[in-house]
Amino acid sequence: FLSNKSAKIFVAGHRGLVGSAVHRKLLSLGFGNIVVRSHKELDLTRQADVEAFFALERPRYVVLAAAKVGGIHANSTYPADFIAVNLQIQTNIIDAAYRHGTEKLIFLGSSCIYPKFAPQPITEDSLLTSPLEPTNEWYAVAKIAGIKMCQAYRLQYGWDAISAMPTNLYGFHDNFHPENSHVLPGLLRRFHEAKVSGAKEVVVWGTGSPLREFLNVDDLADAVVFLLEKYSGLQHVNVGSGKEVTIKELAELIKEVVGFEGGLVWDRTKPDGTPRKLMDSSKLADLGWSPKISLREGLEATYKWYLENVAA
Ligand code: GDP
Repeated sequence: FLSNKSAKIFVAGHRGLVGSAVHRKLLSLGFGNIVVRSHKELDLTRQADVEAFFALERPRYVVLAAAKVGGIHANSTYPADFIAVNLQIQTNIIDAAYRHGTEKLIFLGSSCIYPKFAPQPITEDSLLTSPLEPTNEWYAVAKIAGIKMCQAYRLQYGWDAISAMPTNLYGFHDNFHPENSHVLPGLLRRFHEAKVSGAKEVVVWGTGSPLREFLNVDDLADAVVFLLEKYSGLQHVNVGSGKEVTIKELAELIKEVVGFEGGLVWDRTKPDGTPRKLMDSSKLADLGWSPKISLREGLEATYKWYLENVAA
């Protein structure tokens, strides 16, 4: 993969958190033949349009980072959209890529594919061993189908489709919505706004004790390139940082990075969610990849990006 910088690569979802990071990474590595389409130019849920696009472009590589994503609230309000749109996008792309000569495809999912009570740290082998978390099972079932589809095309056609499952991601182009976002961008925004308005304190949800693992999306993009270069296996691969922090530690780090001088108040009426969510990324480590961006560095860069692109 890395030896041919003029190979045509289609990055599906190039405006999202993951796709934009992969796009930046490929450009920085000197790839000169990257194909992208905005939602308006190509609706990935329309099979005939995706088919026509692949017949025309015939990309050699495909990064499948296009998906309908959202938090717990969006998932439970729009279950039909989450399952249907994601199944449509991935089925259209995977099948058209195979039939129009794509050499290799990487499918991206998330850690919510794993059972609710999977043993921690969660290994790849936990997939489909017990029931899912019900609130996001629509999205999860679609993502599991994507993994299985890559496996099926490999088994039936010998086609090189692989899947990567990242842990909680953050970085540029994240969703910084005050209520609907995930904890890291949500708090970044809240601390920033408190600093600007001169508020005395910031409200943080829950007890602060849950543990979460965070990975900078630029590290994920690096892992995607690494997997395209080095991995051709049937099983999906976890991509995590291996580092856990409590929500309290995270909140204090964000407070420091933003430079907010006031205090924290814990709103215990808000749910903690699962006490711990850590992936086992030793398979990827054994292949020779490790993350490079510390949480502090990643937060500093993300805050700078937020100031220039969202707050401005
Ligand atoms: P989860 O990893 O699927 O539970 O998703 P979240 O990122 O939404 O929440 C992670 C943890 O952060 C939970 O324990 C939340 O209660 C806690 N948390 C604290 N403050 C916030 C906030 O402002 N927004 C969100 N989304 N979570 C928060």
